[in-house]
Amino acid sequence: MRRALTCVALPLAVVLGAAQARTQPPRVEEPKGVDLDALDRKTDPCTDFYQFACGNWLAKNPVPADRRTFGRFTEVQDRNLAVLRRLVETPAKEGSGQTDRAKAADYYAACMDESKIESAALTPIAPDLATIDELVNPDDLPVLVAHLHALGVPALFRFGSQTDKGDATRQIAGVDQGGFALPDRDDYLKSDERSVTLRAKYVAHITQLFTLAGAPPDKAAADAKAVVAIETALATAALDRVARRDPNATNHPMGVNELQRMTPNFSWRKYATAASAPPFQVVNVAIPDFVKAVDQLVAATPVADLKAYLRWQVLHDSADLLPKAFAAADFDFFSRTLAGQQEPPPRWRRCVLETDARLGEALGKAFVEEAFGPQAKADMLQMVQDIKNAMRQDIDAAPWMSGETKKAAMAKLEAVVDRIGYPDTWRDYAAIRVARDEALANRQRALQFDRQRDLKKIGQPVDRGEWSMTPPTVNAYYSPSRNNINFPAGILQPPFYRAGRDAAVNYGAAGAVIGHELTHGFDDQGRKYDGAGNVRDWWTATDAKSYEERAACVADQYSGYTVAPDTKINGRLTLGENTADNGGLRLALMAYLAGPGARAKDKVDGFTPEQRLFLGWAQQWCESSRPEAERLKAQTNPHSSNRYRANGPVSNMPEFQKAFSCKANAPMVRPQACRVW
Ligand SMILES: [Zn+2]
Repeated sequence: MRRALTCVALPLAVVLGAAQARTQPPRVEEPKGVDLDALDRKTDPCTDFYQFACGNWLAKNPVPADRRTFGRFTEVQDRNLAVLRRLVETPAKEGSGQTDRAKAADYYAACMDESKIESAALTPIAPDLATIDELVNPDDLPVLVAHLHALGVPALFRFGSQTDKGDATRQIAGVDQGGFALPDRDDYLKSDERSVTLRAKYVAHITQLFTLAGAPPDKAAADAKAVVAIETALATAALDRVARRDPNATNHPMGVNELQRMTPNFSWRKYATAASAPPFQVVNVAIPDFVKAVDQLVAATPVADLKAYLRWQVLHDSADLLPKAFAAADFDFFSRTLAGQQEPPPRWRRCVLETDARLGEALGKAFVEEAFGPQAKADMLQMVQDIKNAMRQDIDAAPWMSGETKKAAMAKLEAVVDRIGYPDTWRDYAAIRVARDEALANRQRALQFDRQRDLKKIGQPVDRGEWSMTPPTVNAYYSPSRNNINFPAGILQPPFYRAGRDAAVNYGAAGAVIGHELTHGFDDQGRKYDGAGNVRDWWTATDAKSYEERAACVADQYSGYTVAPDTKINGRLTLGENTADNGGLRLALMAYLAGPGARAKDKVDGFTPEQRLFLGWAQQWCESSRPEAERLKAQTNPHSSNRYRANGPVSNMPEFQKAFSCKANAPMVRPQACRVW
């Protein structure tokens, strides 16, 4: 089950675009400090700092046809993917990790074998489609759904293990919303012209997939309508993204019997037995109204329609590893229509990503040996300590917090665990069989393995050693239930960090990313967890009110930013990330000035230390993007558009105004600066 975590960027698969066909990592001449070539010196930094910091980079880096966006994160990912590609395309040396790496190589090879995929046609999913076909009695649905869930097909709802929000030391069972394929629940509910058109295209896409799978056109069209009706019912009962940000809104632990009473038409005993879940007495029903809606749906929907829905779920979930016609249809709707991507990425890039997603730690081990040095780890640990010190001072000095709440905040801060690079214990993939010519079956077996790993945790103590990102991932995260900050090896590279680089730039980039993750522990979501990872209110009523007022200022600020024609940022959806960006940059500046910047006064490349720190911050966000991708991001992603990730925080900081001598009425100087941390 997806674990709540808050990270610094988009998930890998979303950010990624594409690729130069090369097997060696490109030799990049990374600047020793500020990237002077990226600057647009015609723009006044006080007018639009992002444009000043990134303008020339943006002009030189339009979005390639096979990507949705192209930014500095993409550049780093390209380097990491090139390393991974080489690892899966060349035989492993003797020694540690040989088996797992060979397995990853076979997995990749099967994914690359298009002619085999083409000739296999629908054979890999034929048994699943046949099982669906055999459904006669709705009483047998729980067993069928459990089977599909084991293959990673998220039909009707999600079920798995999760950390008990009231006791973060243990794992319990959890049921949550799911089962609809459009990116956002609101896509099913909104009545504006764009949404209506999108749904019409969605029905056409489902019809096309059914037709490709052999259904007569009339039946395909009727089935597609039935599918959308079912998904709409699920979406209607689902909670929206903003409401889900409150951990209390999805915390309803109850006895299994209570869940069963709510859903008389769906047997959880049958489901759990078929899923091979360990026995459990308590289950967190994230959204009780959602499971009630599932129950209603099961009771009221003709079996033929349910079968159409399940067929669609299987086809949709497998489409990218099915023959070309299916993969192309899937790309056309979910990437071209929804995100503006013009062409599919080269196959090798998709297959490297697929291998990383399914066998990530098998490749991660080899990646770390190749791409991660002790200097990076030592520097990061030092920066983490500096940033934590800055946060201690920041909490201590907060004029709006009482001593009582400060004490609790400090206790939480002291309990934060930091992890750099990669897990201490590597996952053992011995149980997964990988065949060099079975792309989809390999994925199904890998997902079954994940599923069993996940279910086995029910009733067990929390494993604090696990990572939620693979080592090559260009991202970082904070886990509120573990109260830890995590920096995979993949992100510890330029432009975020470079050993021996100007410290001002390292602090403005990597330092602010560390500060960002740390601040997540105290954002609108994180502040509702204590240092042990339990959802617990440790705020006095007055301090909580002051916090909400400060947070509302940030929400209103970002809600004013336009990211595409007719699209603005949702300040409430992005509140946690924006709070983390604002706090992260401030902590980085404090830490730098107290540490390596204490005596640095000299200009380098014409910029003062503070100016270089702010440029380090902004230049990591340089990104070209398509309007469709911006619109999709604004609707579904808790991170703001990169332009405002750069500009939003600096415009709240008098330190920035001073560093660039901005006039009081300059666009980058907000008359009412917002500040939480
Ligand atoms: Zn974040």
